[in-house]
Order: sequence, then C-alpha cells, then structure tokens
Amino acid sequence: MNKVIIIRWGEIHLKGKNRGIFEKMLENNIKHAIKDFECTFKKISGRYLIKDFEEFYIEDIMNKLSKVSGVHSASVCELVKSDIEHIIEKSIEICKGRSGTFKVDTKRADKSFPILSVEVSKKVGGEILKSNKDLKVDVVSPSFTVNIDIRESGETLIFTDTVKMMGGMPSGASGKGLLMISGGIDSPVAGYMMAKRGMKLEAVHFHSYPYTSEQAKEKVIELTKAVGEYTGGIKLYVVSFTEIQEAIHRCCKEEYMITLMRRFMMKISEKIARNNGLQAIITGESLGQVASQTIESITSSNSVATMPVLRPLIAFDKIDIIQISEKIGTYETSILPYEDCCTVFLPKHPLIKPNLKKVEIEEGNLDVEGLINNALNNVEIIEL
Ligand code: ATP
Ligand code: MG
Repeated sequence: MNKVIIIRWGEIHLKGKNRGIFEKMLENNIKHAIKDFECTFKKISGRYLIKDFEEFYIEDIMNKLSKVSGVHSASVCELVKSDIEHIIEKSIEICKGRSGTFKVDTKRADKSFPILSVEVSKKVGGEILKSNKDLKVDVVSPSFTVNIDIRESGETLIFTDTVKMMGGMPSGASGKGLLMISGGIDSPVAGYMMAKRGMKLEAVHFHSYPYTSEQAKEKVIELTKAVGEYTGGIKLYVVSFTEIQEAIHRCCKEEYMITLMRRFMMKISEKIARNNGLQAIITGESLGQVASQTIESITSSNSVATMPVLRPLIAFDKIDIIQISEKIGTYETSILPYEDCCTVFLPKHPLIKPNLKKVEIEEGNLDVEGLINNALNNVEIIEL
C-alpha cells in the first residue's frame, strides 16, 4: 500500500505557548474520527500522516476528516523511497491520462537529498513531458501541480490535489455551549459555526407533544446527530414545552405568545447549561429575519440570560445560511414539513417590537418558577 493521507492544520499555529495543548486536542479528535478504519497515524513536522489503510477506504477517511474542526486541508499522496528514479516513475504515473498544463513544485526537508529542489522539479517535469505528449508546462497558472515533498524520513510524498477541509479550531479548544436547536434551517448551521470555532456542543430542543408530532421530534434528533458529527458526538436534552404554552395561552394576551415563549426557552436552556457545566447558549437567530428576531425581541429574550448568548448567524442573510446548511448536510432534513412548537398557538399578530416592561407585566400572570421546574423535571436525554 503506497498511498498515504497528509493532514494540515491552520490557525493553531497562532496559539503560542498553548500550541502543544491544541495540537494534542486536534490529534485526539482526528484519531477519534478515524477510529473505525485500520490504519496508522503519525505526526511528522507540521503535519499528520495517515498510513497503512486499504485504498478502498480513502473516500470514507477523507469524509471523516472533513468533519474534524481544526483540519485545514488534506491530500491523498503517493509515498515512494527518496531516490530520483522512484520519484520520476511515480510522477509519470500520476500524470498518465492527464492533459493541459502543469508544473512541478519540490520541497526538500531532507537537506541530505543530493539534488536541489529546483533541479528535482526540472528533471521530473522534463520526464513527465517526454512521457505524456498532451501536457505542457505552465509555471504561472498551471491546471495542476505535481507536488514533491522530500521528507527527512527517507520517504517522499507526491500529490496533485489539496482538499480544503473544515478549518477553524479543534473541538474542545473553545469551551462548551448549549445549542438551542429547532427543526429549522438556521439552528443546525449555528451549531456548526460554533463547532468550527472549537466549541464542544450539547443541544436542547423544546417540543409541544401532542400538538407537535413524534415525527417532528425525530427530525430534530436527525438534525442534532448531523451537527454532532462535527463535534465528535452530542447530547440532546428534549424538554416538553406543552404545559408552558398552555399556561401562556390561558393567562396572557395572545400577541405575547412568542415573546414569552422565547424567555421561557432561554431561562430553561440556561438552567440546563449551568447544571451541566456548559458556558454559553447558542441560537440560530439572524437580525430581522422574523418578528421574534428584531432587536427589541432579542432584547426581551436576552434580558433573562446571565450567560453569554452566542448568535453566530446574526448578520447572515438567509440565502447564505441555506448554502452552509446544504454544505453540512442538514438542509434536506430541515425543510421536511413538520410543525414546530412555535407554530402552536401562533398569534395572528405577534409583537414585532415588544416593550420589555410590558412583557414583564404580562409574564407576571404566570407561575414562572413552577412551570420551569416542572419542565426541568421531565427532561429526556438522548446521546447521539
Ligand atoms: P431555525 O431555522 O433555527 O428554526 P427560525 O428562523 O425558525 O430558526 P425562530 O423560530 O425565531 O427562528 O427561532 C430562533 C432560534 O430560537 C432558533 O434558531 C433556535 O436557536 C431557537 N429555537 C426556536 N425554536 C426552538 C425549539 N423548539 N427548541 C429549541 N430552540 C428553539
Ligand atoms: Mg424555527
């Protein structure tokens, strides 16, 4: 087996003294992601290398790597002994059947290798040209590059493609947050964005069974699982919201429904976060997208929070959010047409600019503590 996968990381270079800790985190996360494949994992200077796997698994391994935050890019490489004959032979093989323009780019970490990098590039380029009449050299903007990386180990890596990966920071590098996940398009994307920045995630979902269906809950489980693929697994807290919604419906003015619901969700989420050592709440809100996401509405729900509420999509347009949800594989599930708890008892005219004082007066009609405690006593926990 001569193929290996080289893994590059990005931003953790910036972390100075802590760099070692971040590298170790990334290393463990990668190992966890590829644990089901028989292979060996090795650190070489400034890179990781996966070796000794069945070629058959390359696509699956690359797919797993694309979900590990902190991995910047990866390349499938040919591995040969560091001598010029082997390097030429493999480079010719790689270019077989290709047409267009190319260049050869050589890096020589092994300074004892007897030929200078530029000379290696020239020599290999010349041999490729001889063997393939459909190729031309273009050093300025070639259609592909043959990269030759002569390592200190006596081995040389040869590759043409660099696949862009998730980027960001290794999971665990940026604390832990609780994602408020609905069945919509936005919240899974919000979770992904924070996962990318290295935040470990747990998730909370409010459902209004029997007003909302079992299928609606299954859909959220599916979405949470998809987000969990970017954080090495995820725990979901499912909270029944039915009693709270019925109480609001019974005791408060109709137009306050959504505004009050949001405050309850925020309070309950924060309690769950605190009880489980999580440091922030994450929502999929985007400024002005709907009535509950005006700055006044956000002020109303934010005012009950005492821990940071992270809203990574706050300045995103819907179309850009959709694009990310397609990329991360949640879009198709998100658009399944099951009802959400926010559509139950939906007021005809929800408040667009709630006044905080009036909201608090309206909320005074409810046994807030009692309702919250009841909800917290019946939380279902699902490990995904
Ligand atoms: P999404 O696409 O994430 O459902 P949305 O555009 O439908 O968002 P809202 O319904 O106003 O927006 O919800 C705003 C945010 O509140 C959501 O992104 C999510 O973080 C949180 N949220 C809404 N409903 C729920 C729910 N049932 N359970 C948990 N969190 C929720
Ligand atoms: Mg929604």
